[in-house]
Amino acid sequence: MITVYLKKRIAPRIANGHPWIFANEVDRVAGAPAAGDLVEVHYADGKLAGIGYINPKSQILVRLLTRKRENIDDAFFRKRIAGAWAYRQKTGYTENCRLIFGEADQMPALIIDKFNDYFVLQTLALGMDKWKPAIVHALQDIFKPKGIYERNDVPVRNLEGLEQQKGFLSEPFDTNIIIRENGLQFHVDIANGQKTGYFLDQKDNRRAIQHIVKGAEVLGAFTYTGTFEIHAAHYGAKTVLGIDISEQAVAQANRNATLNKLDHICRFEAMNAFDVLKEWGKEEKKYDVVMLDPPAFTKSRENIQKAITGYKEINLRGMKLIRNGGFLVTSSCTNLVQPDLFLQTIDMAAKDARKRFRQVTFQAQASDHPIIWGMENTNYLKFLIVEVSDH
Ligand code: SAH
Repeated sequence: MITVYLKKRIAPRIANGHPWIFANEVDRVAGAPAAGDLVEVHYADGKLAGIGYINPKSQILVRLLTRKRENIDDAFFRKRIAGAWAYRQKTGYTENCRLIFGEADQMPALIIDKFNDYFVLQTLALGMDKWKPAIVHALQDIFKPKGIYERNDVPVRNLEGLEQQKGFLSEPFDTNIIIRENGLQFHVDIANGQKTGYFLDQKDNRRAIQHIVKGAEVLGAFTYTGTFEIHAAHYGAKTVLGIDISEQAVAQANRNATLNKLDHICRFEAMNAFDVLKEWGKEEKKYDVVMLDPPAFTKSRENIQKAITGYKEINLRGMKLIRNGGFLVTSSCTNLVQPDLFLQTIDMAAKDARKRFRQVTFQAQASDHPIIWGMENTNYLKFLIVEVSDH
């Protein structure tokens, strides 16, 4: 196996468990690896740092799969997936769950979502993509699934020199499925929905709105397929309006409301949230609860400031629509905006809007997307509920 030697002075990050090795941390590579090959990584003193896969095309030169000397083969991938499944079972995430959360499951750049008997997979780096047959085989073996689908239609693959593609990795099946969550049902379009089709990471946060929405007039922006809004109706909201810029998402949200017999309470419309929230603020429209769950505003460090401005703006507009004593439910999934920075941003918006907050809850994503200490980007979802008062 080709060996990669690290420089003498590297960030303690790698020794502390972070699995990424950047090109500028490498002293030399003994041999000429092909993109995607397995390599041994050694510290400058010769000690083994681990085994991973290399891609000279990528900014992240090596991603470590293991910290010890062991065979990386089909059995290794089966063992890793079985281990990840054991963790989900222990923590109570079984029917639908993120089965593999990449680095957090020592499977860098691999995502697998389990929707009951169906599995949706993403291999986001070349060195992981090469193991797709082994991964599919392990899933077949452990779960006997009804279907496996690949959602590799994501731009990040281009950075690795990979094509964007999607399709069946099992016998074809009907990719419109229904899943259950918190006692409700949701249509999931595995083939054409956003990301893997459904945002499992908000499962527990959707339940967190249970008490504050009773009897309330609720507005949800960035609704996607209406999950938070349908939960609100289920938990006793008086009326719920959900908006999303995507017509397709709104159509699916309406189908979900009907599926749960809550279409007399929930209404969904295709609109740009930035525009209408501003407009409704001017018109002095008011709601008891406003929920915001925008998409990630940036994936690169250069744009953090822009992302913060985006969060401040949308939250400012959202909180202005809340009646005195109502609630703001606000999320951010941008991993580069860490929890402290997110709270500071919301605080700035509160000061500008002259609102006072009482915090109800502040939490992260569901535990089937485990946070690894020392790996900031696994701590990515911020979910805040505050009671909002006028000064
Ligand atoms: N709350 C959802 C997930 C939201 S994902 C859930 O729990 O399932 C973010 C959503 O924001 C996407 O559906 C996207 O279509 C929508 N979106 C992006 N920009 C928007 C805009 N300017 N106005 C309204 N919706 C927008």
